[in-house]
Amino acid sequence: MMERATSIDDRPDGRSECTGEVVVIGAGPAGCLAAIAAVKAGARVTLLERAGFPREKVCGCCIAPRGVAVLADMGLKHILADAPRLGSVRLESGRASARIDRDSGVALSRGAFDTRLVRAAMDRGVHVVHGTSAIVGIDGVVRARRDGIDMTLCPAACVVADGLAGRSLDAHPGVTWRVSPTSRIGLGAILPAGSIALHPGEVLMRVETGGYVGAVELEDGRIDVAAAADHDVLRHEGPAGLMARWLGDAVRDRDTIDAARWTGTPWLTRQRSTLAMPGILVAGDAAGYVEPFTGEGMSWALASGHAAGLMAARMVHEPSCWVQWPTQWADLLKSDRLRCSLVARLLRSPRTVHAGLAIARRWPGMAARLARPIGQMHRAATLCQEVSS
Ligand SMILES: Cc1cc2nc3c(=O)[nH]c(=O)nc-3n(C[C@H](O)[C@H](O)[C@H](O)COP(=O)(O)OP(=O)(O)OC[C@H]3O[C@@H](n4cnc5c(N)ncnc54)[C@H](O)[C@@H]3O)c2cc1C
Repeated sequence: MMERATSIDDRPDGRSECTGEVVVIGAGPAGCLAAIAAVKAGARVTLLERAGFPREKVCGCCIAPRGVAVLADMGLKHILADAPRLGSVRLESGRASARIDRDSGVALSRGAFDTRLVRAAMDRGVHVVHGTSAIVGIDGVVRARRDGIDMTLCPAACVVADGLAGRSLDAHPGVTWRVSPTSRIGLGAILPAGSIALHPGEVLMRVETGGYVGAVELEDGRIDVAAAADHDVLRHEGPAGLMARWLGDAVRDRDTIDAARWTGTPWLTRQRSTLAMPGILVAGDAAGYVEPFTGEGMSWALASGHAAGLMAARMVHEPSCWVQWPTQWADLLKSDRLRCSLVARLLRSPRTVHAGLAIARRWPGMAARLARPIGQMHRAATLCQEVSS
């Protein structure tokens, strides 16, 4: 899919200029929601994406109830129409196992989800340009390159939503990543239907020494496998060997694990030193990320992208309001991120995991109650509504 941004005018000297009001970098969930929110708030929006879509991405592909609710608020729930509902989590470690019944949202491949979000943005009037890598200069000017042609964009506001590996702010000397020294690396692949034993609507999570792996059935029957692993463990065993060992008895066809295209990520747990500058807001994974065990990253990206898009539209008339973004971002996500990193830290101890599984087997109701708040709609919804009103 390659859409032309009508607000970008090619010049004979090979340079292009754009005076679009809001530019968004990155068309993942954060960038798409930012673009849609800004265009709905009345701004002219250009969305720049490096990749050609559809593209897959390392992700557990579970959209938590909170993310589903943000999409519903934005009139985008139809995007999830064919996404299987997830009603239980099978938590396993070694030989111990427990099933926790809880609403875990829905599963949708990133190929489908992100492409549908981009389509929804285009339908609402966002100019989408694929195959375009962008950077933001310290002057707030966005420089992009597509098919060897350089473009210069001078927006009133730029939302940086270029993800965990994003480099579009590299020119800003004070904007750095604080990467946690205990951070793990993400790993994932999509396997053929039937290659992992899963019950319908079930999320399989296996916790092992050195990390964990999750598996879920997607809308077309294929199986998404995503993991977070210690670097040394992964280097020692290699992706296929490690995934086969961790998934254990659940593997129905070992050949599919060996044949899969395993993709890694950079260090997962990290925080950006700066979330806003004059004319620039940072949202989604580009702002910071914690290990994905609770499967909330996309919900955070949707909620923060939505709020950033609204603020970017405001910056067109009130340029100084960018100073409010770090506080708003913290109000929106900080407590959830703390809870998620606490869960991830507890799971690093096999003893805690085994104790948790024993409790879940003995008192399934209590385990379900404890797990219920994860990924649920609470503060984000109120804030999204507050910001939009
Ligand atoms: C192992 C693992 C499992 C996970 N499981 C789940 C889960 O089950 N549920 C969940 O909710 N979350 C999960 N996550 C987290 C989730 O994948 C992310 O939080 C989410 O993708 C963040 O969305 P985003 O829009 O911020 O960034 P991304 O989805 O990474 O999108 C960023 C986009 O920016 C583009 N881009 C980058 N640089 C540039 C540039 N210079 N110019 C233009 N475009 C650029 C990229 O091509 C990309 O399309 C998981 C993550 C990992 C690693």
